[in-house]
Amino acid sequence: MSQGLLTTTVGSFPKPDYLQKARNQYAAGRLSREELAELERRATREVIALQEEVGLDILVDGEMYRGDMVAYFAELLEGMAIGGLVRSYGNRYYHKPVVTGAIGWPSPMSLEMWRFAQSLTQKPVKGVLTGPYTMMEWSFNDYYDDRRQLVLDMARAMHQEAVELDRAGARYIQVDEPALSTRLEDLDLAIEAMSIVTQGLRAKTITHMCYGDFASAYPRFLDLPVQQFDMETANSGYDLADLFKARGFPEDRELAWGVIDVHNHLVETPEQVVMGIRKGLEVLPPERLYIDPDCGLKTRTPEEAAAKLRVMMEGLRRVRKELGLEQ
Ligand SMILES: [Zn+2]
Repeated sequence: MSQGLLTTTVGSFPKPDYLQKARNQYAAGRLSREELAELERRATREVIALQEEVGLDILVDGEMYRGDMVAYFAELLEGMAIGGLVRSYGNRYYHKPVVTGAIGWPSPMSLEMWRFAQSLTQKPVKGVLTGPYTMMEWSFNDYYDDRRQLVLDMARAMHQEAVELDRAGARYIQVDEPALSTRLEDLDLAIEAMSIVTQGLRAKTITHMCYGDFASAYPRFLDLPVQQFDMETANSGYDLADLFKARGFPEDRELAWGVIDVHNHLVETPEQVVMGIRKGLEVLPPERLYIDPDCGLKTRTPEEAAAKLRVMMEGLRRVRKELGLEQ
């Protein structure tokens, strides 16, 4: 492994066609849970093989068994259910999760697939959980009078899941808080909740947030109790580099730096990736700078996701070589 600029991804990968079809068949009652699970394992094997082939350092299970990052956990947590259809973004409809009772941790929710993915590779597989703030914010609340109580109960449940991954040997645990990116006025609540989720973990802790006005929340958002901030940077022209250069970034924290725009079908050039990595190196030394795509890859086609990762690694190899990092 290289001594710096370690590479990873945010978490989700696109589902192959056969898995999409199988999920629909399962929903229609035409496929058993075990038949679907076998295809989820097949897709997970393929995602691990792709990550190994392109040469990533820290892998993920690809979330082949999750539909939506909130709904997946909502279906399993005590006190949550999936509600009726609601409308979002024009003509798209989806089932919004609903809080119907006291939130509780039922049994491991992500551990089995993490273990399976980790059994397929010598490289570390990151545990990836949806953060308590995002779980609350993207659900209806039909039970709690006080949203702080709701988010803290959610944090205790997600903490228990993180403990399971930690005990099983996960070296990296990421707690995604995309909902916070656009609701930074709730930062104090999110910080309080995150301190419950990450308390006492041995694994390196990470949070992923999507694009937001972090300048207005600086430096308070750096009080989120995690060791690594995984940020969406390519798609905003690397404006966070200017913020951190002007106002500083804590010496005891790391950055995972997005150099691939996941919202764009176009595949970047290696030169664009090199430029993006150099922007990150203006902020932090290679030992504390991780390189990844901006966000989850699930919205791309499998071909686009693979092509984007290959070009990310091509650009990365050029920078590693310049810096004498390649072993
Ligand atoms: Zn994101």
